[in-house]
Amino acid sequence: VHEFEGRSVAVFGLGRTGIAAAKVLAAGGTNVLAWDDNADTREAARKAGVELEDLGRRDWGDIAALVLSPGVPLTHPAPHRMVEFARAVGAEVIGDMELFARTMNALPEAERPRIVGITGTNGKSTTTALIGHILKKAGRETHVGGNIGEAVLGLPAPRPGSVYVLELSSYQLDLVSSLKLDVSVFLNLTPDHIDRHGDMAGYLAAKKRIFLNQDESGTAIVGVDDDHTRGVCSALMAGGPMSVVPISSGRALSKGMYALGGKVYDATNGHTETVADLSRASALPGRHNAQNAAAAFAAVRALGVDARTAAQAMKSFPGLPHRAERVGERGGILFVNDSKATNADSAAQALGCWDTIYWIAGGQPKEGGIEPLRAFFPRIAKAYLIGEAQNAFAKTLGNEVAFEKAGTLENALDLALRDASEGGRKNPVILLSPACASFDQFNSYEHRGDVFRTLVKNRLNGPERGA
Ligand code: ADP
Repeated sequence: VHEFEGRSVAVFGLGRTGIAAAKVLAAGGTNVLAWDDNADTREAARKAGVELEDLGRRDWGDIAALVLSPGVPLTHPAPHRMVEFARAVGAEVIGDMELFARTMNALPEAERPRIVGITGTNGKSTTTALIGHILKKAGRETHVGGNIGEAVLGLPAPRPGSVYVLELSSYQLDLVSSLKLDVSVFLNLTPDHIDRHGDMAGYLAAKKRIFLNQDESGTAIVGVDDDHTRGVCSALMAGGPMSVVPISSGRALSKGMYALGGKVYDATNGHTETVADLSRASALPGRHNAQNAAAAFAAVRALGVDARTAAQAMKSFPGLPHRAERVGERGGILFVNDSKATNADSAAQALGCWDTIYWIAGGQPKEGGIEPLRAFFPRIAKAYLIGEAQNAFAKTLGNEVAFEKAGTLENALDLALRDASEGGRKNPVILLSPACASFDQFNSYEHRGDVFRTLVKNRLNGPERGA
């Protein structure tokens, strides 16, 4: 980043993004002052080649900018005073995405890559990965990162014709002012992460920064299935300079891209055309994924990928781990790992996908428990409850749904496998969709999902062959 060459820049928060930022800045001749409050994180950064400097014990007079990790709260009473220090000396506070944006903006027009950004409360990672998958299948040089996988500054340098597909969290968008997207995707907005942004208005304001510098050459793809994004979409259509593509999964649009009954329809050009069949895309089950698919379809079309290639590529999308991930199949029983469903809202998406569900749920319960999932109870053949939530969930299921308190994930799987095998029901699905945090029994939702995947593999391969 040329403007910081020969100047001092503070980097605070040394996770993935902070390390990548420190390295890129140092390589560009910036005097980098990097710090993190956590000693282990600091040590990991030092091992990765980042030089440390205690920013709390230093004069900030010469510091031109503070690069803040998106994980560090801006509005909370901070445990550290970096933002205050920066403001006191007039240093700007930015994120790694802003550094990337400035580097891209400095390139001559012909060398500028295309940039796609995806945000929303849910479906960001899936949509980002799906867009990346389609572009690669279409033969485009594609780099996927940001809030998913590699930090944006850790991605390969651009070449003419390459495309960056970036997942953008509201935290990252808060720290960006120069990002100019060719294609922006704003999927949906529901109350979440309000803690950091203060209220819904603050959260929405952060998300809307995704459109900040778009002009006539840009495309905005916006969901219209919730009130918040629908309002944003109308406003952009009325007054935005860019092309706007409304997206829905659930109702036909006279203008836009929508998914209905397992098919994606393109109504962007005055007539309606069926463009993709989602029943053949096994990694994209459910109405929520139909929204992701419609958005991805619109995004790649805006980048010039033809409809047939896009539709074909959707079928081979492998999906992301822990999100309605198919981890095995035996004797007509499908095993699904949806460990990422750490709350009821998220579990609802998976429970809506199948009709005969042997449901493994529980862990560290969230406010409200599984009360919001009542509408799905008729689909549940039986529930297997684990972890701290066992008793509370048992109470909610009451007489409506058969259940067993299984205690552990392993026990739950064995009980579910027994019942699904002997139940004689059509198309049974054993689904881990906990509607709970994992921390009572696991390190993370990834850990929980990995354990489940391994257990399923063992049950499918091990004992049977031996017996
Ligand atoms: P994010 O990156 O925004 O957290 P993911 O793609 O990782 O989203 O999906 C996480 C979970 O959110 C999924 O397992 C599913 O339960 C739910 N989900 C995915 N896409 C959507 C969507 N478009 N609308 C609502 N919920 C969704």
